[in-house]
Amino acid sequence: MKKTLLLTLLLAMLTSLNIMAGDEMKYTPQATTFNVVTLGNAKGVTLRLYSDGLAGQPIQTVEMKSKRMKDGNRLWTAVVKGDQKGKFYTFDVLNADGRYLGETQGIWAKAVAVNGRRAAVLDMRETDPVGWNADVRPTIDARDLVLYELHHRDFSIDSSSGIINKGKFLALTEPRAIEHLKKLGINAVHILPSFDYASVDETRLSDNQYNWGYDPVNYNVPEGGYSTDPYRPEVRIREFKQMVQALHSAGIKVILDVVYNHVFDIGASCFQHTMPDYFFRKNADGSYGNGSGCGNETASERPLMRQYIVESTKYWADEYHIDGFRFDLMGVHDIATMNAIRKALPEDIFIYGEGWAAGGCVLPNEQLGMKSNVAQMPGIAAFSDDIRDALRGPWDGDDKSAFLGRQRGFEESIKFGIVGGVQHPQVDITKVNYSNANWATQPTQMIAYVSCHDDMCLVDRLKASIPGITLDEVIRLDLLAQTVVMTSQGVPFLLSGEEMLRTKLGVHNSYNSPDSINHLDWKNLERYPQVMDYYSRLIAMRKAHPAFHMGDADLVRKHVQFLDGGNGLVAFAITDAKEVGDDWNNIYVAFNANREVRLIDVPKGNYTVVCSGGMINACCGLGTINGGKVSVPAQCALIIHD
Ligand code: CA
Repeated sequence: MKKTLLLTLLLAMLTSLNIMAGDEMKYTPQATTFNVVTLGNAKGVTLRLYSDGLAGQPIQTVEMKSKRMKDGNRLWTAVVKGDQKGKFYTFDVLNADGRYLGETQGIWAKAVAVNGRRAAVLDMRETDPVGWNADVRPTIDARDLVLYELHHRDFSIDSSSGIINKGKFLALTEPRAIEHLKKLGINAVHILPSFDYASVDETRLSDNQYNWGYDPVNYNVPEGGYSTDPYRPEVRIREFKQMVQALHSAGIKVILDVVYNHVFDIGASCFQHTMPDYFFRKNADGSYGNGSGCGNETASERPLMRQYIVESTKYWADEYHIDGFRFDLMGVHDIATMNAIRKALPEDIFIYGEGWAAGGCVLPNEQLGMKSNVAQMPGIAAFSDDIRDALRGPWDGDDKSAFLGRQRGFEESIKFGIVGGVQHPQVDITKVNYSNANWATQPTQMIAYVSCHDDMCLVDRLKASIPGITLDEVIRLDLLAQTVVMTSQGVPFLLSGEEMLRTKLGVHNSYNSPDSINHLDWKNLERYPQVMDYYSRLIAMRKAHPAFHMGDADLVRKHVQFLDGGNGLVAFAITDAKEVGDDWNNIYVAFNANREVRLIDVPKGNYTVVCSGGMINACCGLGTINGGKVSVPAQCALIIHD
């Protein structure tokens, strides 16, 4: 009696669950099971099996069997006997109105054919590279992260890179790449969309197409264009894992840029072909919401969409050992979903996002993952456009400058960025450029940066916004800007190639610009060796000195004290740094954007200079100096300690 009851309960529980990662296609050599969930009123689902990923007629057609689930939806299942490995498949849902929705690879495809419109049957364990079981995520606390945002193609495509697998996942397995990243000192790569996206035709890779990849097709499959053979479904999966494995071996975390907020083409999307209109928000007039600026916005607040995002990130973490997620337009997702993701993932997985949307969302801002709501999302960080734009100038005008261009009134926003966006008695929040509240509860909730893939890279922005700027000034201000970023108590973030004085030739939105615009020119490492040298020493200094990344708002309030500055001058002390485990005692940092020397008041004493005049030497120092009136060279950072 008891056993029967238990079994009944168990069955009821199972049927109330929805399809999750790995459930859509379950392979064994004896049989493959296919599962798909539709709306409750769907009339049928046809499974088609193919021997080819693109063309040809089905070799087998199966009408799937269904049962109603607790939530009213319908679970369709088919078991196809025999070894189906190497075959491709699609689902075709017969809708309540008697029309077929059209073939789809399904929302949970884990492996796909070239261009991703047919899913593939494979044995996931056969995609594991040698030693994969021993691969572990490097242990790095959020406070210690130094993020490096890269696009596979930008990073390696130029002949000057010396990398063999140009534009591929495998590029990041090569010694040339790994050594560069280690020398620079970053400890996490944030890779632009690497799931399967639409805008690069994988059958024409020799045409050198370029796209950032913010046009999702299959959320749970690596992009074919970055594999050495997109026609063989297992290759992209194995090569992606090889990339993760190589970076992990070097102590570098791998963070995925995820774009769950919209799909590339709503009509052709796997979501619409499975459960029409379930996964998308609609306005009162029936039109689709457009908070993404791309013609649709997903409905994260709906149970299955919320579960989908949670399960998808868990899948990447489990199957691909991913260390973190950067949410594109996090402000399109609802707060409850972001918190559900945080709860579902291990604590060491870093989560951050863009705390804004690209248009008005269907849901009110109070419910969304906006920057202003970060306090309601513990353990989740957001980009600080406050510090970014206070340094380089506003997003709506490439020719406008700010602190770096000696514009007045940005000092308070720089200070806000230095404390990691948390409340601080010396930061007047009413003078911070975009925020009228301290949106971060902890400094690890604020991403500090001056440039990213969006907009101009730093060199181009300096040239566009500061008329008559010389190359010498570009370099000085570039180093100054990154010193602000790397001495912020937030989590610092670098756009790849800035260490090579990267230029995109003034192109602002280079999402589909050719390689000639987007590529890194590795020869710049020889042309401007002082830039890479400064960046790597700056990052090393940050990593070696816990005072620059205390990771706790109370400690920041206690130890960070701002000195009198002035126009184009921000200065602060980190006092009693030994209390936070530093081997320096008191640290003084000043940023001078002016074209003339400025003075700061430092208590009497003897100090070691570790950064001045565009040079850094944290371990041995550049010389000594007495306290009192201390000079900060023009367009430079000064760092001294006792
Ligand atoms: Ca693709």
